[in-house]
Amino acid sequence: MPITYRGRFAPSPTGPLHFGSLVAAMASYLDAKAHHGEWLLRIEDLDFDRNVPGADTDIIASLQRCGMQWDGQITWQSQRTALYQQALAKLQANVFACSCSRKEIADSRLRAGLEDSQIYPGTCRNGMPEGKAARSFRLRVPDGDAARFHFDDRLFGTQNQDLSRDVGDFVLKRADGFWAYQLAVVVDDAAQGINAIVRGADLLDSTARQIYLQQLLGLPTPSYLHVPVVVNQAGEKLSKQTGALAFDSGNNNLLKEALLPAAQFLGLQLSSKANNESNELSRFWQEAIIAWSLRYPSVTGAC
Ligand code: GLU
Repeated sequence: MPITYRGRFAPSPTGPLHFGSLVAAMASYLDAKAHHGEWLLRIEDLDFDRNVPGADTDIIASLQRCGMQWDGQITWQSQRTALYQQALAKLQANVFACSCSRKEIADSRLRAGLEDSQIYPGTCRNGMPEGKAARSFRLRVPDGDAARFHFDDRLFGTQNQDLSRDVGDFVLKRADGFWAYQLAVVVDDAAQGINAIVRGADLLDSTARQIYLQQLLGLPTPSYLHVPVVVNQAGEKLSKQTGALAFDSGNNNLLKEALLPAAQFLGLQLSSKANNESNELSRFWQEAIIAWSLRYPSVTGAC
């Protein structure tokens, strides 16, 4: 029996949709539609310092104006923290409390001559220094061969990462009390039955961590398709921090100014009909779904 495809778009509400996040939304939407699947919308609002009030409603309104309709109820991660707590409890045997501040981590890298490294130096791996209190909770990554993870990305091909060498023990619950993205995304994707993930290539190097968490929690691993990210002239990923502008002013020509350029960025060949000035959203989507199917390989086993 073919498996029903279920994908999602999971924006962080750090600002309105901009061209880069529209590309990610469009890619996940088209892939779901090309597979006759479902497309869920989840607002990843766990970082209360970065959330911008009203950004979630702006994002939702822009998706609607673009004609991207999600299935089921929208979920907000901030309402699902009990699930993350349960997952942390399940991972107990592999989790340790860490008392290190950013400065302490940087200092111990310096002492070890590893100042350019991003890897956790392992200070609290076997217990916190005496008299120190827990700040964050980290997941112990395996050593040796068990640290090597690989997965097939539908666009980028086989990806390899050594979690011990390239990442180190990573945070599941942050020192500021917020749940870390890596844990929440794995818990929610599984709880929502997501079996196909389509998102920006900036998350390629998070995927091995997520697969390791899925394995520890006994959860299935979805298929992965990472699409190229949009960068600015300085080569930085478009984001609120790098000055990306909202594409949707509420009264602009979305087709011409946003949807067609996003489809073009994704390498979709649209016929001249969708390219004309008639501003017909439904025709655009019909053609974009066909163009997507031709450009991106289908997930085997999904209908
Ligand atoms: N919330 C993440 C972001 O906005 C996306 C997470 C994901 O797709 O796994 O960048």
